[in-house]
Amino acid sequence: MKPKKNLKIEIMAIGSELLTPYFQDTNSLFLTERLNDLGMEVSYKTIVGDDWDDLALSIKQALSRTDVIIAIGGLGPTQDDRTREAFATVLERKLIFNKELLQKIEGRFKHRGLSMPAVNKKQSYVIDGAEILENRNGTAPGLWLDTGSNKIILLPGPPHELKPMFDESACPHLQEFKTDYTARKVLKITGLTESKIDTLILDLYPDSPYLRMTILSHPGQIEIHLSSHSKKSQEQADKRVQKLETNILERLKENVFSASGEELEEVVGNLLRLNKRTLAVAESCTGGLLGHRLTNVPGSSDYFLLGVVAYSNKAKINALGVSPSLIEKYGAVSSQVAEAMAQGIREKARSNLSLAVTGIAGPTGGTPEKPVGLVYIALAWDKGSKLKKNLFLGNRDKIKYQSSQKALDMVRRHLAKNKKKKRALK
Ligand code: ATP
Repeated sequence: MKPKKNLKIEIMAIGSELLTPYFQDTNSLFLTERLNDLGMEVSYKTIVGDDWDDLALSIKQALSRTDVIIAIGGLGPTQDDRTREAFATVLERKLIFNKELLQKIEGRFKHRGLSMPAVNKKQSYVIDGAEILENRNGTAPGLWLDTGSNKIILLPGPPHELKPMFDESACPHLQEFKTDYTARKVLKITGLTESKIDTLILDLYPDSPYLRMTILSHPGQIEIHLSSHSKKSQEQADKRVQKLETNILERLKENVFSASGEELEEVVGNLLRLNKRTLAVAESCTGGLLGHRLTNVPGSSDYFLLGVVAYSNKAKINALGVSPSLIEKYGAVSSQVAEAMAQGIREKARSNLSLAVTGIAGPTGGTPEKPVGLVYIALAWDKGSKLKKNLFLGNRDKIKYQSSQKALDMVRRHLAKNKKKKRALK
């Protein structure tokens, strides 16, 4: 059998808004991930505006240098949506009216009690020879076209339309060109710096063309992305990644909080549910971010009881029962006040666990003794409490996020430790 050749792929994001500082081409990240999962690499990414000449030139270039073009956006009904027309013109193919498509688009409007604006008729024209890719979430249909020398996929811009269309209709067309089996894993870590992680796993960096390991750093979280390829089988690709994952886990131990994609708030939520524990939070400098993250998880009412944003001193006194003398003596940003806030919210909510955060998120308000980034976090439970003094770097957003991350991680480590103790007693 003739070996399959690796296809050269170009993703072309179309739309003048993508050339402004306000919009980002995030669709191509999604598409790249999906293509990589098929064992395909992307050779070019282009961003081009709505100008006809620019668009036509970009299409010509893409046709000449790649086998597959995936174009995103510009399939809408308005004047500046020209993707369909531009491809048809460059390919010297007709745009053919499709009555069924028009009825479908009209039907979408009718379903919402509206009549279809005349401009939408434009969306029922199909490039000669192309197959229609159904859009379950919008009016703009996608197209798949095989010209013999190029495979062309046109997808709508809105991510909630593009993603299901790619997975359901475009991906099956590409499956037959799959050359490699791939496996991926993302390990999420908190509590270690990037350089510390690097030192701990330096000798594990794979020296093989089939394995890749990349470290990505975010505020309060480091991710290790592992990927492997195999020409032979999925099993071989999976095994390659698993072996590397096991070795990394042995080194980084409990600092890895997820190996299956979960966010820290989900991991904490699962642990609370499993341990039948409830949580309440008292927040000052995080301004509700902790409560927001906890309640981002569906079903969090099972364990999350109460969140109070006590930003002013008065609120700390009135809502949490913090003693005014404590604030006067040590200041609102102090270990003593953090602990009192945690005890206060735990009593109010009658929860098993509680968290409190008080700090200086900046950019103003810092002093030499209490600089911007100083954040006290207290965790309290029925038999004790724990306090962490942190000095976070970065702007206000980053300090707030790192504070919420650290607070959640304190709960995670506390519950994980309890689990270990219980296991040891058995
Ligand atoms: P529709 O008719 O449904 O709007 P369309 O194909 O005409 O589909 P565009 O008008 O090009 O889509 O884009 C609509 C919106 O989709 C943009 O305003 C932007 O928010 C989002 N979008 C477009 N391209 C991208 C991209 N590459 N990455 C992320 N979002 C995008």
